[in-house]
Amino acid sequence: MKTTTRAVIIGGGVVGCSVLYHLTKLGWSDVMLLERSELTSGSTWHAAGGFHTLNGDTNMAALQGYTIRLYRELEAITGMSCGLHHVGGVTLADNKDRFDMLVAERAKHRYMGLDTEIIGPAEIAKIAPITNLDGIIGGLYDPLDGHLDPSGTTHAYARAAKMGGATIELHCKVIATTPRPDGTWDVVTDKGTIHAEHVVNAAGLWAREVAAMAGSYVPLHPMEHQYIVTDDLPEIYERDSEHPHVMDPAGESYLRQEGRGLCIGFYEQPCKPWAVDGTPWDFGHELLPDNLDKIEESIAFAYSRFPVLERAGVKSVIHGPFTFAPDGNPLVGPVPGLRNYWSACGVMAGFSQGGGVGLMLAQWMITGECERDVSALDIARYGRWITPGYTRPKVVENYQNRFSVSYPNQELPAARPHRTTPMYDIFTDLGAVWGHQFGLEVANYFARADDPPYETPTFRRSDAFAATAREVAVVRGGVGINELQNFGKFSVTGSGARAWLDRIMAGRIPQPGRMSLTPMLSPKGRLWGDFTVSCLAEDDFQLTASYGAQDIHHRWFMQNESPDARVENISDTRTGFQIAGPKARDVLAACTRDDVAGIRFMDVRRITVGQVACIVQRVSYTGDLGYEIYCDPTDQRQLWWTLWQAGQPYGIAPFGMRAMMSLRLDRFFGSWGREFSPDYTAAETGMDRFINFKKSSDFIGRALAEAERATPPDRMLVTFVVDADDADVVAYEPVFIAGQVQGFCTSGGYAHHTGTSIAFALVPRAAAIDDMVVEIEIMGQRRPARRITTPLFDPDGQVMRG
Ligand SMILES: Cc1cc2nc3c(=O)[nH]c(=O)nc-3n(C[C@H](O)[C@H](O)[C@H](O)COP(=O)(O)OP(=O)(O)OC[C@H]3O[C@@H](n4cnc5c(N)ncnc54)[C@H](O)[C@@H]3O)c2cc1C
Repeated sequence: MKTTTRAVIIGGGVVGCSVLYHLTKLGWSDVMLLERSELTSGSTWHAAGGFHTLNGDTNMAALQGYTIRLYRELEAITGMSCGLHHVGGVTLADNKDRFDMLVAERAKHRYMGLDTEIIGPAEIAKIAPITNLDGIIGGLYDPLDGHLDPSGTTHAYARAAKMGGATIELHCKVIATTPRPDGTWDVVTDKGTIHAEHVVNAAGLWAREVAAMAGSYVPLHPMEHQYIVTDDLPEIYERDSEHPHVMDPAGESYLRQEGRGLCIGFYEQPCKPWAVDGTPWDFGHELLPDNLDKIEESIAFAYSRFPVLERAGVKSVIHGPFTFAPDGNPLVGPVPGLRNYWSACGVMAGFSQGGGVGLMLAQWMITGECERDVSALDIARYGRWITPGYTRPKVVENYQNRFSVSYPNQELPAARPHRTTPMYDIFTDLGAVWGHQFGLEVANYFARADDPPYETPTFRRSDAFAATAREVAVVRGGVGINELQNFGKFSVTGSGARAWLDRIMAGRIPQPGRMSLTPMLSPKGRLWGDFTVSCLAEDDFQLTASYGAQDIHHRWFMQNESPDARVENISDTRTGFQIAGPKARDVLAACTRDDVAGIRFMDVRRITVGQVACIVQRVSYTGDLGYEIYCDPTDQRQLWWTLWQAGQPYGIAPFGMRAMMSLRLDRFFGSWGREFSPDYTAAETGMDRFINFKKSSDFIGRALAEAERATPPDRMLVTFVVDADDADVVAYEPVFIAGQVQGFCTSGGYAHHTGTSIAFALVPRAAAIDDMVVEIEIMGQRRPARRITTPLFDPDGQVMRG
């Protein structure tokens, strides 16, 4: 056995083999996979082998499209068969909301170049005649759906990797992983120790155990899952062609042809987590005992949807475990806190997603970044707050919701509240309707007695509309207050702080007492962050950015650390409030003896507010006159009472995230993860106006930023006013220019203050003329939209700066 290698991949399931193949494909041949048994000895061997592109997350859907197209490539390279059956598939809709969801998915697919199609019951009857269409409104047809041979496919990945130089060591169990001071690893196995530059945890069902060997926790949990294979059925074997897949979300089932019969699997509500206290090492090529009681109701429903099943004998029942992350997406990327240790775990649909996961991880390991935004699968989307106690109920919830309609304004209840701020009970008494962000309860809006006590999930304008309008009016007309907890915050201190920031950030680093906005770029020049930098002193800076991306950002800071700059994640140790609106200055002035009038726009000061030591920044994401007032969490309630009492004469009222996201719209403020993301560059999104090309430092991403300055990119971010009625843009809706899909929306919504429906979209630069008129597809309807170039609120910034 080799004893040194560039990368060790632990686990020979479909995911580990895909990572191995993609590393060789991208140029690393000295790579090694260790498998404690035979290949496929975890979840992989008993998978049903189905694949599809449909995924609510657009980047995941694109990765699934890549995975499916890859199989032909694997067959061509290796001469092996993946056992492909490209039979197509239809997802049924039995109610309006589900149909709306499929229509919205179809709209996204237009820009992605996926040839899905909305079809009616008559068409469904033609392609999937065993379906009882009672109550079915229509469905989404995807010609790419199909299934394959799980074992053949995994072995094809393995063969292709070996052809690229990789080594596979079977019957070689990893028992310890020990880091060396230089960041490399000793991978201890029952056959000896291997010294590797990089380690990849692709241990599937045992990923928790393997992560623990490196002292980390991977937030996933195995769930039991069952599918049934029937005896031969004439309705199937007498057909001229193979029966397509049918996903029946109402029955939480997926069905396909298997040989001369059928195979049907269920995501049942009375589902069961498996191996709660750890996966036994002696588990492998066995199945769990059948448990048809658990899926009794699902089977009864399936009999009514597919009556042919009632006459079918059961040939076999496959009951096995596989892993899920709390949100059902894979857990991929560099594990925070560890050097050269990578995760490729929690892949619940290995045959839809495994190829894309392998490609992304290989790009990340070899080039330092992926070609697209992988935030949705980045393991760092979960912070230090995540525990097995949180993961388990969330995974159960995810399994149960596998086929549920997922709405843009949906809040999932399991394992909540998990983290709360000192304001939780005060805000609850004020009617807070809570949302959830990075494990934290965040007020979405404040309901009055005549408002619904919670927001009903919908694709249209929700019943939070009136409350949001009210909160927007309070901010624009008087003064509103909300918490600053859900901002990602960092402290950068030390003699090298400025130099470090000048390298990491593309923008201007402010002088003491001042603030600046700056993009953070990846080495290849894509957007990796959208930061506010505040200079408290020459060697003391505060950074604010996305709360949800805090661990992703922190990991990047650690990868680029400097001995002279201390970077600390203070997201949860520095909190406070923002007050915004024309009366904000009066409220702050009433709480302090400091010179509030002297605090100019983009100034930062340390002042005492009431009796609390605060950092006050003159800025507001609402676009109004506003202040961000930071303090220690232990002081937060005291600060609240000070501001709240001082605000009473001015009609102060709390506002939540729904209002905040509305307020930004008519001021044209983009948002991280929407307008700004690693999928885009600074010049595409207008963030280049914050790049400081005059600074001498060779900031990360400079080369591409310079190149884009010389030759602007082909697409650009623009704003539209949409002629919408009861539904606004959410994200990824296609933009039709001259009848052709040529762009897509990054986000949008209803700007209550100006009474307009706003959409932000990336469109071809050549087409982006003033007053351009386009159509945007919302809920299946093409809505006219007109470009606007001047913010609707405070166009010259007088209010904000005044
Ligand atoms: C009943 C059922 C039906 C399914 N149907 C589908 C489907 O239709 N489509 C689909 O896409 N997905 C399906 N899945 C899910 C699919 O099986 C998984 O997504 C996939 O197998 C995950 O692969 P993996 O490589 O991550 O993990 P695993 O297959 O669990 O592989 C992990 C490997 O790591 C090895 N290993 C672990 N620890 C060590 C160690 N210490 N040292 C060395 N080796 C180690 C194990 O032996 C194992 O071979 C189904 C799952 C089940 C249970």
